[in-house]
Amino acid sequence: DSVFASIVQAPEDPILGVTVAYNKDQSPVKLNLGVGAYRTEEGKPLVLNVVRKAEQMLVNDESRVKEYLPITGVADFNKLSAKLIFGADSPAIQENRVTTVQCLSGTGSLRVGGEFLAKHYHEKTIYIPLPTWGNHPKVFTLAGLSVKTYRYYDPNTRGLDFSGLLEDLQNGPSGAIVLLHACAHNPTGVDPTSDQWEQIRQLMRSKELLPFFDSAYQGFASGSLDADAAPVRMFVADGGECLAAQSYAKNMGLYGERVGALSIVCKGADVASRVESQLKLVIRPMYSNPPIHGASIVAAILKDGNMYTEWTVELKAMADRIISMRHQLFEALQAKGTPGDWSHIIKQIGMFTFTGLNSDQVAFMTKEFHIYMTSDGRISMAGLSSRTVPHLANAIHAAVT
Ligand code: PLP
Repeated sequence: DSVFASIVQAPEDPILGVTVAYNKDQSPVKLNLGVGAYRTEEGKPLVLNVVRKAEQMLVNDESRVKEYLPITGVADFNKLSAKLIFGADSPAIQENRVTTVQCLSGTGSLRVGGEFLAKHYHEKTIYIPLPTWGNHPKVFTLAGLSVKTYRYYDPNTRGLDFSGLLEDLQNGPSGAIVLLHACAHNPTGVDPTSDQWEQIRQLMRSKELLPFFDSAYQGFASGSLDADAAPVRMFVADGGECLAAQSYAKNMGLYGERVGALSIVCKGADVASRVESQLKLVIRPMYSNPPIHGASIVAAILKDGNMYTEWTVELKAMADRIISMRHQLFEALQAKGTPGDWSHIIKQIGMFTFTGLNSDQVAFMTKEFHIYMTSDGRISMAGLSSRTVPHLANAIHAAVT
């Protein structure tokens, strides 16, 4: 018998499992709104032109070799990534008090940050929003932190539970880590207003809570890289410390290249350099050093003025298509007279709409309409097109009437 005979079958990942079920469905009208990846109007994955161009440049450059990167990754990539999120004129960068390491996309950046904090930071509790991206509790628990939640979403208003959020942060231990979605909160699509961000900042600084930003959608939410980074920059502007995990999966469409960065903003250059030395000790036994290709694409685009501009145009086009899907779906439900207030579809931002549909309604839509989504009623607007909006509107209408 196998030495592994007693191992039980693990459940499917709740998000990736949606795609497994979708792939098994034979219906011609099937629709996958579970995936967190951009699709074109034709339902196809998209490689940005500027990414193709950068890859061509890399391939044609025969001086490039396949040597190991340093533990911290591509140096240019790290500098440019910090500039992208904190702003070109960020005093923290100018004062050399930011350390940035290339990591395996957003997930890897969160994990490295979590492991670093578990080892070197005095408070081991991290507060994550309720709800949040399903991987957050697992990443931070396995990193060695103790995970607690703060109230975030109010199902009654389908908006932010701002008083609940403030109360929970207020009641947490001084020094606790707080995970904040930099923009386009996943799965709710609900973000604080800038006034609310300012209040969150004041409360967190007064309680010495440590902000850990998860920035998986910079530029993808509003179409503007600067607007989507505003909350992060607000926290850095006060001179305080924070962490930021960046992903280029969505905003450059580099999903499978696994390219991201972890930055730690410190109070001074000497601390930042000691922090970096310890980050290397976290990374080295985990995967030695990160891969070259994805980070080289990003660095090529970020350092060239023309390519950078081309990227912002393509990025805005993706964001605009998603925003347009929100309006089309909202209008289709209005036109059908579907009962209920659906204005949250156009108020929420980012890739996802948190529809408010319950798990029974989701199961009904899957069974009767071959529409796939996570059981919490989250739909990916990026998976929709003008062609498929009517089918989804029909399904939502049938599910709620
Ligand atoms: N954080 C949030 C909130 C996300 O939605 C995602 C991806 O779906 C990630 C992090 C990490 O993604 P990746 O590891 O592909 O960059």
